[in-house]
Amino acid sequence: MVINGKTIAEEVYSELQTLLDRYDVPRKPKIAILLIGNREDSLKYIKGKMRKCEELGFLSELLQFDETSDVHDVVKQIDVLNHDESIDGILVQMPLPYLFIEKNKVPHTESVTRYILDSIDPNKDIDGLTATNIGKYVAHDKTGFIPATAQGVMKILQYISIDLTGKHVVIIGRSLIVGKPIAQLCLEKNAGVTMLHSHVSDISYYTMSADVIILAAGKPNLLNREMVHDQAVVIDVGISVTDGKLYGDADFSQLQDYVKAITPVPGGVGPLTIAYIMYNLGKAYIYNNDSTKNSVS
Ligand code: NAD
Repeated sequence: MVINGKTIAEEVYSELQTLLDRYDVPRKPKIAILLIGNREDSLKYIKGKMRKCEELGFLSELLQFDETSDVHDVVKQIDVLNHDESIDGILVQMPLPYLFIEKNKVPHTESVTRYILDSIDPNKDIDGLTATNIGKYVAHDKTGFIPATAQGVMKILQYISIDLTGKHVVIIGRSLIVGKPIAQLCLEKNAGVTMLHSHVSDISYYTMSADVIILAAGKPNLLNREMVHDQAVVIDVGISVTDGKLYGDADFSQLQDYVKAITPVPGGVGPLTIAYIMYNLGKAYIYNNDSTKNSVS
């Protein structure tokens, strides 16, 4: 079975509408997106999010910084957005440019990224990347935000009725935005989880026994037919662009008629990532307009 992400995303949009219908707020949800540098792929992803906002009647604003900017100027801008009552969600487009990280050198490279992310008000952190929100979902506190792609992957598994209890889930990729939150959510569903990364040489040792394989490495053809059994479910998060064409991490042509189910690239996980960014924005909008500040889940 080839899984259609667009159809599943429609369900998320109707859940979002149901959520918004429960509240009477006089203004529209608004997202502010910060881009440092001018990576073409980042701009493309941002435009996709802004287009979806427009379609849903939400507002969006793009703030651009040069890659030679001072990190403190970026953080000052985030602070302004944190205090701006018309802004519900703040998103800093990742990855940060190499030059920006180099110029703003701190003892550990990732600290520049962490410094920026943790300057976002956790109640507006719709990407779920602040330490506060990471802590919340690890601690099963439903008032925080979970990264959109991870929610999308779980929605796909739920949609195709995969009960993860006791299943072996192999996740390839351990980033904070994709691999780690997915692992956490799979653990919550009682799966046995194996996390792999670039230091593991023989990934087929693990994938051969996997019931569910989640690919998030960004390496085309990382998974082929010899590495899986025919009852496996393959969720392909990876995106690579070669000659203007998108590829996932799975060898789709080999696997589509072999495994139990697989997501294509494009048209698999991607539409769900956008849908859950919008869902998180709706959730932030309601939270930020609710004087009782009760949880919205
Ligand atoms: P990242 O670069 O932060 O992490 C990549 C991970 O893959 C790392 O943990 C690395 O160790 C691992 N890895 C790399 N090569 C490997 C190999 N040969 N074997 C095993 N592990 C390997 O990237 P990310 O932000 O987590 O994104 C991962 C991929 O998912 C990228 O292709 C990205 O474009 C894509 N992505 C897609 C969506 C979507 O909506 N479909 C959303 C976010 C990210």
